[in-house]
Amino acid sequence: VTETPHSPGPAHEPAGAEKRRSQRIALRVPVVVIGTDVNGKAFGELTGTVIVNAHGALVELKAVLADNQRVLLRNRLTGQRESCRVVWFRRDESGMNRAGLEFLIPAPHFWGVEFPPETWKLEQMSAVVQREAGGPLEFAKVTRPRPLPEELLVRVEACGVCHSDLHVARGDWPEVAGAMSYPAILGHEVVGRVVEAGAAVKGYRGGERVGVGWLYSTCGRCELCREGAENICLKRQVTGIAAPGGFAEFIRVRAATAVPVPDSLPAEQAAPLFCAGLTVFHALRNAGLLSQAKIEGSAAGQRVAVIGLGGLGLLAVQLARLAGAEVCAVDVSDLKLALARSLGAAQTVDARSPDALQQIRGSSRPHLAVVTAPAKSAYDLAFRALRRRGTLAVVGLPKEDLTFFADDLAVSECRIIGSAVGTRAEMREVLELAAAGKLRCETQVCRPEEINNVIARMERGEIAGRAVLRFGPATP
Ligand SMILES: [Zn+2]
Ligand SMILES: [Zn+2]
Repeated sequence: VTETPHSPGPAHEPAGAEKRRSQRIALRVPVVVIGTDVNGKAFGELTGTVIVNAHGALVELKAVLADNQRVLLRNRLTGQRESCRVVWFRRDESGMNRAGLEFLIPAPHFWGVEFPPETWKLEQMSAVVQREAGGPLEFAKVTRPRPLPEELLVRVEACGVCHSDLHVARGDWPEVAGAMSYPAILGHEVVGRVVEAGAAVKGYRGGERVGVGWLYSTCGRCELCREGAENICLKRQVTGIAAPGGFAEFIRVRAATAVPVPDSLPAEQAAPLFCAGLTVFHALRNAGLLSQAKIEGSAAGQRVAVIGLGGLGLLAVQLARLAGAEVCAVDVSDLKLALARSLGAAQTVDARSPDALQQIRGSSRPHLAVVTAPAKSAYDLAFRALRRRGTLAVVGLPKEDLTFFADDLAVSECRIIGSAVGTRAEMREVLELAAAGKLRCETQVCRPEEINNVIARMERGEIAGRAVLRFGPATP
């Protein structure tokens, strides 16, 4: 380790800032860079040099990196590893490649030397962090992100806790686990205010209220994007997986993906709409209710069974009611059944009762069954309850395969439909309904420090409605 007081600047400043550089302590540390190049090809292990100072790190190496990609650094002196993000990359005339790196968790120990604390001045924020796959979530201080040119930096007001967050945190979904990089910040029901807009962003001055959900970005070019099905874009990236999510004081979001949120909606009301609300809205629209031309009354005369009355189910009850359907709400919790009744369900059924199937069938069988419970038994019940030519909407995701007899399916002419979150255009419709007072989330507001307790209660089914983490000061 040698001290080089005039070495190039910090990770966040690709050019300029000459004057202040000489005041900084900088160290050259030999590192191994592990990752993939700009084309996604593994470059194996490359040795390079990191120049680190109080404001960030800069790596010199032979590989070509891309903005925003993640690489792993191994300190050749100490053997320590840290994951970082490429904030900028450029190649100078001498052919040397330089990249500015941002460490999610500032870790002076990584460099094998102690920095005087006053020189370690990366701006910090509080966040719920998972340091390794399947590990515990912890409330910690991490580096506050800076927006890339096409991004917004948003100060998070509230972020809902979705069951998907539980699955991702536990490593239940192998295909997602491969796309994660750690330390990770989950959370994809985010509402906040813009505090900074990247250099290439037009139309934001700061202070605007925006939200972002499961879709962190879509390509806009693939077959599905062109068909208006951006929610299943072949190249979509997911918030909290491809990029840090909203369980933090600040989040970087793509300006193109951010959806404006009306000021009249409290943050904890708006946040769960970005996954829970959008998901049920899209599922009901896929099932033929809530047509774009006419939402209210679009399902008059139909019976809709909603099975599973968590955050999603209670929203589905309201949307089906809004469409004019008669709603049969099914769950195993008296509290949730009572909530469904208060939201307009004409009938509630305790799924544990021996004649639950007969009760759901009632005097005329449902046209549509929306299953939000992640249980195979709920799907079996729903399928058997449906009328002929009925529709089964798959929303809750059990670990087991769903099975239906081909004969039953053929004779009943039932349709089984999938749905995956929803589009930005649908998100605007959902927010409009909520702002007009036609859609309300049952929420339990929690502090981010309580995250592990919140998750434990969610796993035991003890939270009625949606748990929402509130960042910053409490609502007056
Ligand atoms: Zn979700
Ligand atoms: Zn696409």
